Amino acid sequence: MQLTILVTSDMHGYIQPTNYAEKGADLPFGTAKVATKMQELTAQADGPVIKIENGDFIQGSPLSYYAAKQKQDPAEITKVINHMGYDVGLLGNHEFNYGLPYLEKAIKSYQHPILAANVLGKDGQPYFGEPYVILEKEGVKIAILGVVTQYIPHWEQPATVKDLTFKSLVATAKEYVPKLRELADVVIVSYHGGFEKDLSTGEATEMLTGENE
Ligand SMILES: [Zn+2]
Repeated sequence: MQLTILVTSDMHGYIQPTNYAEKGADLPFGTAKVATKMQELTAQADGPVIKIENGDFIQGSPLSYYAAKQKQDPAEITKVINHMGYDVGLLGNHEFNYGLPYLEKAIKSYQHPILAANVLGKDGQPYFGEPYVILEKEGVKIAILGVVTQYIPHWEQPATVKDLTFKSLVATAKEYVPKLRELADVVIVSYHGGFEKDLSTGEATEMLTGENE
């Protein structure tokens, strides 16, 4: 069986291919173009397709600012995501930018689960719901673990993150992956963040602050 994994990340509130400033723009990005591409790739796929939204969607464009500040309703933009058939979504670091109540409203507005295994509440459990999902496609069990950069408190208002603990995603993955390997045939770790070392040599490529792991 061939499994196709489609992942989107950092769409940052851009739906139409415009910067929302000029009329008639046709810029080479935006969720609408991504949706078309995903439809094409899904149609061409030989076997099941998994769609993961890897985070940083609700913030970043004039439109997402309007949804947050004027409408105070993330569904103004997240409803687009709900038309794209995602299996799961993740939180990006920018998902926290408009505060916790807005983020929680956004999470509720999605039709698929949102994963954040390394963002913990006071009880030490994942605060935003599920740490992982296990999907079954053509008889194959596929586990997806969702993790985000632990560096979020360095960028956010203290009030937004005051009751949350951001754990190292490597430590979190080490905790979950062996368990998921027992429960599923395929294990995917979906991570909103970067790498701090060259993946083949292990050589540090930046200061080791913990932002990227
Ligand atoms: Zn990000």
